[in-house]
Order: sequence, then C-alpha cells, then structure tokens
Amino acid sequence: MAAGTPTATFAARQREILQEMGIELWVRRDRAADEPADAGKPDATALAWGPLRDAVRTCTRCVLHRTRTQTVFGVGNESARWMIVGEAPGGEEDRQGEPFVGPAGQLLNEMLRAVGLERSDVFIANILKCRPPENRDPKLEEISACADHLAAQMRLVSPKLILAVGRIAAQTLLQQMVPVGRLRGRAHAYGPGGIPLVVTYHPAYLLRSPGEKRKAWDDLRLARSLVDPLS
Ligand code: SF4
Repeated sequence: MAAGTPTATFAARQREILQEMGIELWVRRDRAADEPADAGKPDATALAWGPLRDAVRTCTRCVLHRTRTQTVFGVGNESARWMIVGEAPGGEEDRQGEPFVGPAGQLLNEMLRAVGLERSDVFIANILKCRPPENRDPKLEEISACADHLAAQMRLVSPKLILAVGRIAAQTLLQQMVPVGRLRGRAHAYGPGGIPLVVTYHPAYLLRSPGEKRKAWDDLRLARSLVDPLS
C-alpha cells in the first residue's frame, strides 16, 4: 500500500504516534486542536520555488529556529528525476546552508558517482530544514511542523523516484517504525501516485560501519534499475 503524503495524513499519523507514546500535543487554548499554527496564510504546500525558499528561510514553526545558524533548504536539480531525502542538517550543514556536506556528504557524492550521477543531477533535501541541537534525533512535533516544506518541495520537483537516506527519512516517509535494515532492499510506493521509494543507509552511519557500504551500493543499483535518473 502506498504511504501517504507528508501533509495532513502525516500530521494525523504523527498525532496518533504521539498519543500512542502517551505524549500530549500542546495546543493553545485560543486555537482549535486541528487548526494549523499558520491558519489563514496561503497553503505552504502550494508555493512556487521563490516564495517557498522565503517561507523556509523565515520559518519559526518549531523551536529549532531559535538555535539554527541558518535554514538548510535543499540543493540540486529542481526538475530531477531522483529526489534524495535525508534527516536533518548537522553542524557543517548548519554553517554552510547546504545539505550533505562534510565527510557524510562526500560519501553521498561517492555513492552517487558509483551509479553515474553527480550531486547536480538530483535534488537533495532533508526532513528538517534546521539543525537539532547536538545533532539529536528530530522530535515528532518538529517533523510534523516541517512536513509542509518537504511536501512543497516534492510537489515542485515531482520526482520519479525517492531515495530515503537513513532511519528518520525512511520511517517518516513510509510512516513505519521499522529499522532501515528491514525497509531497504526493495521498492516501496510513496504517496497517492505510488512514486517508487528506495531506502538506504545514511552515509554518516556508513562512515561508522563501512562493512555496510556494499548494501548501500545494492540499494542504489536497485533504484537505478527502477528509474533511470537521467533519461
Ligand atoms: Fe521551520 Fe522546519 Fe526549521 Fe522547524 S525545522 S523552524 S518547521 S524550517
């Protein structure tokens, strides 16, 4: 079954997960529980590239805006056939304003080159556009707050294949709390359009566990067999 889009369906699922975990969402008393924080503003998922970049750059939807150096919007070919989705900016990404830089980024570049691609051939974004302090895991409410930005990017890029890199990206997009090892190695279907989605390990993990690189290579070959990234 196809996973839902990272918008209303996602927010509802996150609310369910929070409730299952016994966490209550804090809601202002002057705001109905289902009313979004930016009610009355234009639909964030319907923005064009320029307004979307501005919306992300000035976003204060979650607490991460207080500690970021800058937002990390995403980079690459805005009409790419492959969209790569990672977790969140780390320290170097926060400083440079670009996703997947530093050692993990270099490894991602090598992984792409292994299947004949440059960074500029794909669009690269993260689930979160701001760095979680100390590189902690994103919180569910942060993922939910940032979901519209990713949904808007996906609508604009309109990828033919999504590569979910790492646990947070895979679990968020597929809405399954399952380890990467059980999600990788096969094609999933994402959203109402059933976009092929392949899961692989995060390059930061591969730097710590180089013995798993072979599996990541297999994942990229699987993705390539599903959708030619350049045709
Ligand atoms: Fe906004 Fe996303 Fe940054 Fe939170 S992480 S402040 S939702 S851009």
